[in-house]
Amino acid sequence: MNITEILKTKVESGQTVLTEFESKELLQEIGISVPSQKLTTSKQETITAAEEIGYPVVLKLIAEDVVHKSDTGAVKLNLKTKEEVENAYDELMKIPAQMEKKISVQKMADEPITELIIGMTTDPQFGPALMFGIGGILVELLEDVSFRIAPITEYDANEMIHEIKGFPILDGYRGKPKANIGAIVETLMKISDLVTEHENINEMDLNPVFIYEKGLVCVDARIILKEKENSN
Ligand code: ADP
Ligand code: MG
Repeated sequence: MNITEILKTKVESGQTVLTEFESKELLQEIGISVPSQKLTTSKQETITAAEEIGYPVVLKLIAEDVVHKSDTGAVKLNLKTKEEVENAYDELMKIPAQMEKKISVQKMADEPITELIIGMTTDPQFGPALMFGIGGILVELLEDVSFRIAPITEYDANEMIHEIKGFPILDGYRGKPKANIGAIVETLMKISDLVTEHENINEMDLNPVFIYEKGLVCVDARIILKEKENSN
């Protein structure tokens, strides 16, 4: 299925919130890198997936009604052995959820220069608006983010990145390596193209995206679709 068909099927079935796993599959489809991931439904499958992906891995509980995963203990980071995976699996299964529970087994990404957030919201007047910021405390405390209405040009993407107050963090602050700005520009453009082409995407939240010297990887994502329009 192509992206248009996938989105249409979701909207038709009334599923407007894509799970982290589905959201990252879609990002991968448009060329945004995500840690290798497998969806499992039993302990044995989870162990096999961890061994195929290679340690260290992350386990996350994927259920439609579990949204802020770390708040409920649904993210188990840096698991290095089969025993750690088994224990993490048992703990995840204890978390209450109304909806069907699955496990996302994913590669533990290396520590980044910093975390980024890249998002999209739909403005009732102007349509899709893209958002960029440095993740964590800077975003929450200082509201250090930039916005542009989509579609954006490469020039706009560069401006979005350079105008935030935290830009020095990306530019080799205190002897840290410089972040790959080109990779961020490319990612913003890909999101811009996606939301311009697919009007049924209402919201996107890539939070966090890990940025490195060599590129970036999106470790958590959420895509929300517009509800099906009533035909009468
Ligand atoms: P939440 O639903 O709470 O936002 P996340 O999936 O963002 O859960 O996970 C919480 C945190 O765990 C992330 O902000 C990130 O720092 C870390 N994390 C999540 N997935 C990975 C991964 N695959 N590799 C490394 N760190 C990860
Ligand atoms: Mg997150």
